[in-house]
Amino acid sequence: MNTVTGIIIGRDGSTFQLRLTIKKQTMLLGQKGSVPDSVSRKHVRIDLDEDGKMLLTNLDLNNSTYVNGREVEVKRVCFTDVIELGPDHYPLSWEVINTMLPKVADISELRKIWDGYQSQMLNWQIKERRTNALRNITPVFMVVSSLVGILYGREHPWVLGTMIGIIVINFALFVISLFQASDVPKRNKKLRETAENNYKCPCCGCLFPLQSYERLLQMKRCPHCEALLKG
Ligand SMILES: [Zn+2]
Repeated sequence: MNTVTGIIIGRDGSTFQLRLTIKKQTMLLGQKGSVPDSVSRKHVRIDLDEDGKMLLTNLDLNNSTYVNGREVEVKRVCFTDVIELGPDHYPLSWEVINTMLPKVADISELRKIWDGYQSQMLNWQIKERRTNALRNITPVFMVVSSLVGILYGREHPWVLGTMIGIIVINFALFVISLFQASDVPKRNKKLRETAENNYKCPCCGCLFPLQSYERLLQMKRCPHCEALLKG
């Protein structure tokens, strides 16, 4: 387990409030005197790993910790589990723990957006290349036409046929490039904008730069809300 955050939870010695410590940051929660002394000062630790999974550890053999009514020493926990501390079964609310836990943003949906954007751009590029490849047929027609002219004379129907072929193909290519000149930049822009507007953090809604999904995962955290990025 690659721990990114460990929260130590216990009772504050003087105020009898719930005390949460994460790195050097400490927080006292709840009313004074609300935590019974059967909860020790360092009672449990909750570790959060990079995948957002949580591990609860009872910190002392003299402590007792319950998850869903069962006494535990070490246990994986999730937000639906009921955690109680000490023989008085002091309930530890997730609302309280969540105030200290970093958020986890599940960005797996963004993979589809990136892959969709990439493959559409690729398809269009392939189509454009095919159109360009057609242009290379013109010289082939010219050569055939000249050869036929040399071998069979200029009046041979193939000479006229290839000339007409050249004209038709060039006219078609001209129409296609005319259409592409105005439409392709608009179409590419629209596709990019749609991808960009959906490429956002599920926690805070801020937009990520449109970069590969793998690169996004390498960022590890959302630069806006610091949520851990989970793929
Ligand atoms: Zn965010």
